[in-house]
Amino acid sequence: MTTSETGSGAGRFAPSPSSDLHLGNLRTALLAWLFARSTGRAFRWRVEDLDVARSATDGVAEGQLADALALGLDVDGPVLRQSERQHHYAAAVERLGEDVYECFCTRREIAEASSAPHDGFRPYPGTCRDLTEEQRAERRRRRPAALRVRTDTDTFEVDDLLAGRVGGLVDDFVLRRGDGAWAYNLAVVVDDAATGVDQVVRGDDLLTSAPRQAWLAQRLGYRPPTYAHVPLAVNADGRRLAKRDGAVTLAELTAAGVSAQDVLARLAVSLRLATAGERVDVALLLSRFDPAALPREPWVVEG
Ligand code: GLU
Repeated sequence: MTTSETGSGAGRFAPSPSSDLHLGNLRTALLAWLFARSTGRAFRWRVEDLDVARSATDGVAEGQLADALALGLDVDGPVLRQSERQHHYAAAVERLGEDVYECFCTRREIAEASSAPHDGFRPYPGTCRDLTEEQRAERRRRRPAALRVRTDTDTFEVDDLLAGRVGGLVDDFVLRRGDGAWAYNLAVVVDDAATGVDQVVRGDDLLTSAPRQAWLAQRLGYRPPTYAHVPLAVNADGRRLAKRDGAVTLAELTAAGVSAQDVLARLAVSLRLATAGERVDVALLLSRFDPAALPREPWVVEG
C-alpha cells in the first residue's frame, strides 16, 4: 500500500436522503468505513440533499445515519448537509473565474448536437462555449442559464483501488443548473476537499463521474482523492437493487425479526469476511478486511 492510501486523511459516505438505505447502500457504507478505518482514516458522513426537497425527506437523513450506527459504524466530526453549504459552492465557482460560462441548451438540443453517449453520458458539444455578450443577452431573455466549466482536456485519469488507473471522459460539465441548483459534481469536490476526504468509496455506477470530479479537484488546487468504486447490489433479475425488491431496508428487516447484527453478518458473508451463521461485529470485520480479496462482481440479493 502506498503512502497516499494511509495516514491522516478521511473517507466518507454521502447518501442522498431520498429514501431509506437498502442492503446495497448499507454494504457500500460498510465498505467505505472499512476502507477508511483500515488505513487509519477518519470516517465522515455527508447528506447530499441538494436535489431533494426537505419536506419530502423529513427524517430520512437521520434514519440513514441511525442505520449505519446500528450496524456499528462510527462517524467522525459533524454531519455535513449540502443544502447548508451553498455559499461554498458559489465561492468555488467564483474561483474558476473566466472558465465558467453560461449555457442555454436544453437537454434535447444537447442530444441533437452531441455525439453518441459515451461512458453512460453525452459529452457536452460546447455549443455555448464562445457566445458573444449579445448572444448571451438574447438567450437570457428566453431561459435561465446553467453554468458550465470550460475544461482544457477531454480525458482525465484517476486511481481506483479496485479498477486500477482509469481514464475517462471530461467535458464542459454543469456546475449550476438552470433552476439554480448546484450540481453534484461540484458539491462533491468542494465538500470532500473541505473535510479532508482523500479516499472516496462508493458504488461503481459513479466510476464514470470520477474523472470529471478529479479534474475539477485539481483545477481548484486540491489533490484528487484515491477512489474505490465497489460493485453494486442487484436483485435476482440482475437489476440494481431497489425498494420494491422486498424487505431490503434495516427497518423492514427489523420488522421481519432480523436484527441489525444479523444484517451485518449477511453483509459480511457477501463480502467474504464471514461464513454463514457466524456472529460478527465491525471490529472483527476490520481485522479481516483485505481490499484485494473483495468480490469484484455485483452482489445478488435473493428476496
Ligand atoms: N450521493 C450519491 C449517491 O447517493 C453518492 C455520491 C458520492 O459518493 O460521491 O449515490
